[in-house]
Amino acid sequence: LVNCFTLVSPCYDPLGIVLHPLAALANHSCDYNAVVRVEFHWPGGHRLKVRALRPIASGEEITVSYIDATTPRHVRQRELQDRYFFTCECSKCLDDTLVKKEDVPHPLDPEGHLAIEQRAFDLLAAARKDTSITGPVQKLKYGIHILRKSKAWPLHRQPLASLRQELVVSLIAASQLHHAFLHAWIQYRCVDQIIFPERNHPIRLVHQWLVAALIRRVDISKYGREDLPLQQYNIFNLQANLHRLFGYVLCNLRRKVKDDNFGDFAAMVRRTYFRHSGSLAGNPVGREEFLQEADKLRVCVKRVLKEELVWGDGS
Ligand SMILES: [Zn+2]
Repeated sequence: LVNCFTLVSPCYDPLGIVLHPLAALANHSCDYNAVVRVEFHWPGGHRLKVRALRPIASGEEITVSYIDATTPRHVRQRELQDRYFFTCECSKCLDDTLVKKEDVPHPLDPEGHLAIEQRAFDLLAAARKDTSITGPVQKLKYGIHILRKSKAWPLHRQPLASLRQELVVSLIAASQLHHAFLHAWIQYRCVDQIIFPERNHPIRLVHQWLVAALIRRVDISKYGREDLPLQQYNIFNLQANLHRLFGYVLCNLRRKVKDDNFGDFAAMVRRTYFRHSGSLAGNPVGREEFLQEADKLRVCVKRVLKEELVWGDGS
C-alpha cells in the first residue's frame, strides 16, 4: 500500500499507478536523490527504472518522492500522513533554515496566509476538474491573483508555480498560444531552477520541452497555417527572433538528454532536433545571442506579471 508509484507518460502526465517489489524498497524523502519512471526498452517492452538525479555515494540511501515535494512542509506532511501514514523526518523537513524561508506560513499573519493558500489549492483542484475551455483559465488566473496580491508569494512558492504551469496547459487548450508561451517562459526562466534545483530533473526538462514546442508553434503561426483566435498578448510585436530562441532552447535540451539512451522523452527530443538540425546545426545560437533575444520578451513578461496583481481588467 505504501509503495505505489504514479505511472506517467514521457511528458509526466499521470497514467495510473505501478506496484513493483524492487522499486518499493526506495524510501521517501522530500529531498529525494532519484526518480522512478517507466521507459520503453527494445527488446522487452516497458521497464520500471530508478534514475539518480545527482551523484549518490556508496552506502548512501536511495530515496524517491511519493508526493509533489515542491509544496510547503505542512502540505507535504499532511499528504504523507493521509496517504502513507507516516510523519516525514527527511533533511528538508528538519532543515530549520529552509522551513523558516518558504516552508511555513507567513509569520505576521499565519492564519490569513493559510486561508489564502487553501483557497488557491482549492482553485487549482477545481480547475483540473473543469472540462470547459474558459473555466480553468478563469479559476487559475484568480488563484494566481489572490496569491500575488497578498505579496507573500514569490513566484516559486507553491501553489503559485503549479497554478501557472496548469494555466499554460489551459491557455493552449483555449488557443491563446502567445499568452501560454509567456507563462511557460516565466516558469522556465524564474521558477524551475529554484523548485527543481537539479539541472536534469525530469520535470524541469519537460517544462523546457514545452517552452521549445510553444515557441515553435507561435513562430509558425505567423505564416497563417493555423486559424488562431485573437491573442490577448502578441509577442510578434517584440521583434524577437523566435526561430533562434527555439534553436537555443532545443539544442540546450538535447545536450541535457544526450547520455539518456533509453528514455522515451530523450528519444522524442532527439527526433525533433534531427528534424530541425538543417537550420540549426550550421549556425548554432550562442548564450549571448540567446540572452539578447530573451531580453526582448521582458516587456511582455513584466506586463503579464503586473496584470496579475489586478483582478478584472483585461482578464
Ligand atoms: Zn520530508
